[in-house]
Amino acid sequence: MARMTHQDHRIQNTGATSPEALALEDLVSEADAEELQDLARRYAISAPRHLIDLIDKGAESDPIALQIVPSLQELITTNDERVDPIGDHTHSPLKGLVHRYPDRVLLKVHSACAMYCRFCFRREMVGPGGDMMTDTDITEALDYIRKHTEIWEVILTGGDPMMLSARRISTFLDALDCIEHVKVVRFHTRLPVAAPERVTEDLSAALANRRATVYVAVHSNHAREFSEEALAACQRLTDVGIPLVGQTVLLKGINDNAEMLADLFRTMVEARIMPYYLHHPDLAPGTSHFRVSIETGQALMKQLRGRISGLAIPTYILDIPGGYGKVPVGPSYISDSEDGALEIQDINGQSHIYQPQKSNAL
Ligand SMILES: *Cc1c(COP(=O)(O)O)cnc(C)c1O
Ligand code: SF4
Repeated sequence: MARMTHQDHRIQNTGATSPEALALEDLVSEADAEELQDLARRYAISAPRHLIDLIDKGAESDPIALQIVPSLQELITTNDERVDPIGDHTHSPLKGLVHRYPDRVLLKVHSACAMYCRFCFRREMVGPGGDMMTDTDITEALDYIRKHTEIWEVILTGGDPMMLSARRISTFLDALDCIEHVKVVRFHTRLPVAAPERVTEDLSAALANRRATVYVAVHSNHAREFSEEALAACQRLTDVGIPLVGQTVLLKGINDNAEMLADLFRTMVEARIMPYYLHHPDLAPGTSHFRVSIETGQALMKQLRGRISGLAIPTYILDIPGGYGKVPVGPSYISDSEDGALEIQDINGQSHIYQPQKSNAL
């Protein structure tokens, strides 16, 4: 086969899904592309055209490039990292279904994503050839949800559930709408920022006007991801009445400073996305170069409080390794003082004594 020229490649390609293609886009050197071959066999690569075009190639470390261009550092696995970092397997009664909290289940309906984030906590599972739920798996999952009347919310994740066609999503939501106790359906997706052109009017129409309330959680880690096209994609969802929440992963070198986080969360609020969670990075294999300490995360959260609108402040969350669930790990402003009083820290770091009401000694 004749070698593609730069020009051909750009015309034919909707993005880069191999080290060679990344080299043609000038995102890695030819030599690095060669070295990345092994890694590419282990972890999927996809840099969608929309995001490639947002990269500032002159910058030494572009926050978008860092999220989609693989690096050899991913071959370094530390002792604390695990294939199943948040213990999905221990709570999975059926293929593709995770039931950790009584009132909500997670369904991993689709293993493919528009982009493959280099820090993905499910990187061992996601990919174009990954294990999708078959129609039989979906039928079984629906039976399970029907039988478990305590399930109030169904959370669709993956991979990226919005990669499914509008028609498949519609069929699936029709089925959930028939299960009376399911009141909320939540999609976790990166599509509005990764491939906004795929958030079509057909897709938003499939989510709209349901019996169950549909929420969409948009994963985004940097304000630069909110291009004009991305903002328009979000608007196609809010226009039909879909509430949006934001999901962010705290990432070293990408958003680990207060300025960038403030910028990101404000951009979200402006786009009608309520910042919901700031995730402490999970212990996924080959991601240590992205991890910061919890102390760093807490210090950043402290810098945000008071400085930006409360609407723009998510909860800082750790999914405890091993399958113990998510807990807030944000800073504390309260400590014990003398005589049962409490010491409360204000946003400038000054302490104040708060005398709690004496409980009635009966
Ligand atoms: C993260 C997660 C959820 C959702 O948790 P919320 O705190 O409701 O956002 C539900 N089930 C599983 C298994 C999860 O990992
Ligand atoms: S979009 Fe989500 S599931 Fe897909 S690679 Fe990124 S973090 Fe992982």
